Amino acid sequence: MATGTFAESGADLELVGIHKRFPGFTAIEELNLTIPAGSFFALLGPSGCGKTTTLRLVAGLEAPTAGRILLGGNDVTDQKSFQRPVNTVFQSYALFPHMTVLENVAFGLRRRKMADPLEKAHEVLRLVELDHLGGRRPQQLSGGQQQRVALARAIVNRPALLLLDEPLGALDLKLRRQMQLELKTIQEDIGLTFLHVTHDQEEAMTMADTIAVMNKGRIEQMGAPQELYELPKTSFVANFLGQSNLFTGPVVNTTSTGISVDVAGQKITVPIDRAHRTSGEITIGVRPEKITLHSRKPARDAGVNVLGPGQVIDVSFSGVSTQYLVDVPGAGNLIVFAQNMTFGSDVQEGDKVWLSWTI
Ligand code: ATP
Repeated sequence: MATGTFAESGADLELVGIHKRFPGFTAIEELNLTIPAGSFFALLGPSGCGKTTTLRLVAGLEAPTAGRILLGGNDVTDQKSFQRPVNTVFQSYALFPHMTVLENVAFGLRRRKMADPLEKAHEVLRLVELDHLGGRRPQQLSGGQQQRVALARAIVNRPALLLLDEPLGALDLKLRRQMQLELKTIQEDIGLTFLHVTHDQEEAMTMADTIAVMNKGRIEQMGAPQELYELPKTSFVANFLGQSNLFTGPVVNTTSTGISVDVAGQKITVPIDRAHRTSGEITIGVRPEKITLHSRKPARDAGVNVLGPGQVIDVSFSGVSTQYLVDVPGAGNLIVFAQNMTFGSDVQEGDKVWLSWTI
């Protein structure tokens, strides 16, 4: 993506003790978060968890029941929507069909009577690599191009914060993946603060510096994508970001390095620094790609967990990998991805297998 002369720095966003109650329903409960200036922050969660409500509070389209919203250190809680230096890109691009692309982008600048609206609009169109299509109307563009016009229109007046509400939701999968990378590059080029709302975990992982996983109006966990994937603190986060095999069992042994749980009569160990509790029942999560399948029982070496035998009850091929579903009596159905296969494509439904993974 071209780097133009467009350089701007975003502002920090702070949400302090935000609550939002609608009549008979609490949508947001005690939300606290700080988004550093210039970062790409994703709010990720299932439908109804409160993502859009959070965005609308920041945009000034809803007022919080309690709490404060600070932008660049200024309290904007009581400011009207149009007074806030914040723009939004929606899933429906909301472009004006009777205007050209250039006029669409210049519209907001003209309304604010800013100098050189067409030159500024052209500069931003160059940034999103659409300057050659400025004379077209929105309906003469592809979905991805329309999305970039919407983005250009939202950044042309240099807001301190850009809100993105499922902005790629209307695109097909291939274009969505391409636009994810483009959006991320543009964000890095212009240095604005982006707050992106999505229910697509892959999208959040690809684009964001920091992800907050929301569940029922609260933030369940916040961190860098890899940290959330590798060290989820709850079963909800483990399952929302990728797939996870979860085992729950009583603690049977604790050492200075590991904690062992009884799963269907077999001992499964996790490093002590990954355990959030060291007694009673605990839940352990294992990612499907960490597991290796074996046709014979493997040695229970130090540092390796072994579970089985189980029976392969489903094999599905997705092009990139093969997914196996293995029923281990007492432990449930486990998902295994094929990368770590020891006997590759020979595994069939009905086969008896053991599973192992490094602790
Ligand atoms: P989605 O991904 O489906 O858009 P979301 O995470 O963005 O979901 P919100 O739109 O923030 O969810 O809604 C959170 C909850 O608040 C939902 O249960 C919703 O029904 C409720 N809600 C939202 N707006 C109102 C309103 N004006 N009055 C009452 N309840 C509302």
